[in-house]
Amino acid sequence: MGGNSPITIQSMTNTQTADVAATVTQIKALEAEGCEIIRVAVNNKEAAASFAEIKKQITNIPLVADIHFDHNLAMAAINAGADKIRINPGNIGDEWKIEEVAKAAKNRKIPIRVGVNSGSLDTDLIDKYGGVTAQGLADAALRNIAALNKYDFDDIVISIKASNIPMTLAAHEILAPQTNYPLHLGITEAGTLFSGTIKSTAGLAAMLTRGIGDTIRVSLTSDPIEEVRVAKELLKSLGLRQFGPEIISCPTCGRTQIDLISIANEIEYKIKHIKSPIKIAIMGCIVNGPGEAKDCDIGIAGGKGEGILFKKGEIIRKISENKMAAELLAEIEMLERNFNG
Ligand code: SF4
Repeated sequence: MGGNSPITIQSMTNTQTADVAATVTQIKALEAEGCEIIRVAVNNKEAAASFAEIKKQITNIPLVADIHFDHNLAMAAINAGADKIRINPGNIGDEWKIEEVAKAAKNRKIPIRVGVNSGSLDTDLIDKYGGVTAQGLADAALRNIAALNKYDFDDIVISIKASNIPMTLAAHEILAPQTNYPLHLGITEAGTLFSGTIKSTAGLAAMLTRGIGDTIRVSLTSDPIEEVRVAKELLKSLGLRQFGPEIISCPTCGRTQIDLISIANEIEYKIKHIKSPIKIAIMGCIVNGPGEAKDCDIGIAGGKGEGILFKKGEIIRKISENKMAAELLAEIEMLERNFNG
């Protein structure tokens, strides 16, 4: 994470961590969906006790313990094999506790993510800047870094979270030039699947297009699988990562003479298993259709009850509307086999 490494996708389980079976099942499902780093809440002794067992049952994906303020839970998670811990040094209490956690993480060679949240900003920074401000959030992040650097610890990831997008962006713009530590991006409490997707995408895209950010978590009040799907689509649409096929489809209009929306949805649903970066155009008419379809690996441009199939810029054949989805899918499967040699 960091430097020129690809921007990684994170999510967090919403099972009870003490329920090992449920948590492991969800982690494996998230991993299969493309999640690359997974965080679990370690909020009590039972969760800490389960952490080692969960770690044993998942082999590939790094497991992060989300601690916040309890130093004993941080130590338990480090000893249980956590690949990273998330703490807020400002909330952990006595200096010796911060020192102990920093030393233990350093011995195990694991990073610590320090988080700043607009909902729990240090009161002196609120007083200094007359409320919760971007400058206050950036100062708090630098303060957390200093709290760990003091104990010769610098394997740090930083996050600044606020549900206010302009404030989050401004805080990162203040912080980013002042540090080389990787930045974990997220718009906290973004909302439900629909509104949270839009809010997260707006905020994360604003930062990512400015070259800010090394790892992202889309926070949704929904199944965490959706967080991973949204994150993949976001990184793909910004050209920052490649995850399977890309569909270019038109919004339809009065010129559309086939049921393009159903065809596009059917294709999207049935290509979930495809891994290759195949570009697929699903266009409603001959105005923009052939142009887009020609630029793609495969595509259709609709007509009246039929469509023209294009492949690598060449017209292949006409297909009637009722066979369009099936034939396009067969072509996509063939391209996938060719991609894989
Ligand atoms: Fe309308 Fe054709 Fe554009 Fe689709 S491609 S929105 S059918 S003009």
